[in-house]
Amino acid sequence: AKSAGKENYEFFSPELLDSSLRKQEITAALQQALVNGEFSVHYQPQVELVSGRVIGFEALLRWNSALGAVAPSEFIPVAEECGAIHSIGEWVLREACLQLAAWQKEGRPAICVSVNVSAKQFLDTQFAEKVARILAETDVPAEYVEIEITESVMIDLDASSALVEELQAIGVKLAIDDFGTGYSSLNAIKNIQIDTLKIDKSLVDEVLGSDRSMAILATIIELGKNLGAEVVVEGLETIEQVTLMRQYEVIGQGYYFSRPLPGDKAARVWDKYLEQ
Ligand code: C2E
Ligand code: CA
Ligand code: CA
Ligand code: CA
Repeated sequence: AKSAGKENYEFFSPELLDSSLRKQEITAALQQALVNGEFSVHYQPQVELVSGRVIGFEALLRWNSALGAVAPSEFIPVAEECGAIHSIGEWVLREACLQLAAWQKEGRPAICVSVNVSAKQFLDTQFAEKVARILAETDVPAEYVEIEITESVMIDLDASSALVEELQAIGVKLAIDDFGTGYSSLNAIKNIQIDTLKIDKSLVDEVLGSDRSMAILATIIELGKNLGAEVVVEGLETIEQVTLMRQYEVIGQGYYFSRPLPGDKAARVWDKYLEQ
């Protein structure tokens, strides 16, 4: 058949061969990455625009592998596919909690750290238990930890809402990440109490110079606030974007304030904001 012929052709295309080899390499390298200590976590500040206060950090995974630096957008999907995401995700959460505990010991003000959690981890029925164990081990109060999930997690509402309830009982916060990029946005937030709505960079990028995009963004911000959620606008890079967004009294995150940095460097950026 025609379609089978096309598949055969695709199977032997050099690009596909390359990408499947690359995937195999990444899969193999991922098996050793944790024991070899190849991962690190970087932290990006979240700034309350009206006050200029740093109110949190997002934890972002970095992998310095034998293959060189590999971006999360490339290795996270592979880790999800091969199952490594479970141990990696646990490691990131523990690492973020250890950082919080270390900052507390240094006498820093209490702050929240957000950790990205993959849809695959959200299908793990023991996920909430694992979270509770890591909080207990690291002695971090649950209220300082926020779990970031994407809308895609909420498509299977029955499976995920039980876990959401368990997490809320533990006391961790819940953020919907990349809001505005999916097709089920409203369903995702209709049935669960979320603490934070994170609006995707792509929505913000179109705003300057487009009244229609601005109207949509303003309405989403209002929606988040009406639901009692904090609103974080992601990917702010310019002073123009920051000035505009400040009028909407949201929290901003982006290169304008800081790139994601190792814990000690992130703390120095935080100090800079504390001095202001
Ligand atoms: P995300 O959760 O939406 O994270 C925001 C991404 O935008 C990060 O990319 C961050 O470095 C980048 N970013 C922040 N500010 C700006 C800006 O002003 N301009 C631009 N162009 N980019 C900005 P990163 O670190 O490469 O992570 C990419 C994605 O990989 C994340 O998107 C998240 O989906 C995933 N990821 C990262 N760390 C983890 C993790 O520990 N676990 C899981 N499951 N996923 C992770
Ligand atoms: Ca995120
Ligand atoms: Ca995001
Ligand atoms: Ca994203």
